[in-house]
Amino acid sequence: MAATLMDGRALAARVRAEVAEDVAALGELALATVLVGDDPASEAYIRHKHAACREVGIEAVDHRLPADAAQEDVVRLVRRLNDDAGVDGVLVQTPLPEQLDEPAVLGEVAPIKDVDGLHPFNAGLLFLGRPAHVGATPLGIMRLLAEYSIRLRGVRAVVIGRSPIVGKPMAMLLLAEHATVTVCHSRTQDLARHTLDADVLVAAVGVTALIAPDMVKQGATVIDVGITRTDAGLVGDVDPGVAESAGYLTPVPGGVGPMTVASLLQNTIKAARYRRGELAFPAG
Ligand code: NAP
Repeated sequence: MAATLMDGRALAARVRAEVAEDVAALGELALATVLVGDDPASEAYIRHKHAACREVGIEAVDHRLPADAAQEDVVRLVRRLNDDAGVDGVLVQTPLPEQLDEPAVLGEVAPIKDVDGLHPFNAGLLFLGRPAHVGATPLGIMRLLAEYSIRLRGVRAVVIGRSPIVGKPMAMLLLAEHATVTVCHSRTQDLARHTLDADVLVAAVGVTALIAPDMVKQGATVIDVGITRTDAGLVGDVDPGVAESAGYLTPVPGGVGPMTVASLLQNTIKAARYRRGELAFPAG
């Protein structure tokens, strides 16, 4: 039987409607984005994020620096946004150009405004099981799993990819829901041995058709995070043939992508609540 497609577009529209209500209740709020350079994929992501902000009434402030920007220029801008009382959330679009020390830049974002959850303080809180700001992609995936009532407690979850923005936080969130989590990456030997064991499989790699139909357990839930731009449009990491054996599958496009953007809006609401004292931001 063909897999149930997990409709990220429809759920994201509902999340955005919830966010719009929150914005109306909170009053003015703003997300500042920092884009360094002119990478077309990064530009497209920033455009989507800004459009989504506008739609729900969040002011999106677009800060751009040239591709050859110096470390101190980027740091100065981030510090200015940290100090700006009119800014609730700060997002530095990654990857940054090679000459920049990316961890050092991300470490400059004030933790309370760090809507991507990439500051060591927020990453550490997640690691300790006390999440505050958590990245939008893994959060969006958790919301999608909840929406389709996918069981996580005690199941075997396999995450492919170990980036700070997707794979690692995803593994932590699944662990917090009591899944038994395996993390695979580019040095993993015999990937299929792991994927075939997965009740929940999250592929966050960026390699087209990495997950073939014979690598997926019958009835598994498969979350395709990967995005590769091709002449035929966006494609994920999962071979479409997986729909024949999986129980649930996220389409690309229309699965994780819209949930990421919607969750970023929710994170901006959360940042605004932290700053207004409606939510207590952890002191340490
Ligand atoms: P990344 O930083 O490049 O990480 C990719 C991960 O995949 C790394 O951990 C890498 O292992 C692993 N990997 C590479 N080749 C592999 C292979 N052949 N087998 C197993 N693992 C392999 O990328 P990312 O930022 O996490 O993003 C991953 C993908 O998700 C990209 O396609 C990106 O465009 C997409 N994405 C989508 C959304 C969305 O909203 N849908 C959001 C964010 C990202 P090593 O650590 O060993 O190098």
